Amino acid sequence: MTKSFKCADVGKDCSWSVKSDNIDDLMKQISEHASHEHNIQEIPEDLKTKVIASIKDE
Ligand SMILES: [Zn+2]
Repeated sequence: MTKSFKCADVGKDCSWSVKSDNIDDLMKQISEHASHEHNIQEIPEDLKTKVIASIKDE
């Protein structure tokens, strides 16, 4: 099953989104995006919880 995430779903003013079949790959891409675009070097636990809650199955 494909999983998808939109950055806007965690309250960022950002149009970036990502899809992956693999949750680990998805989280890796989200981490890289957060680092490059939002200057978040390490996603804090509360944000990670929000991110995981926002991931949708397609
Ligand atoms: Zn973003």
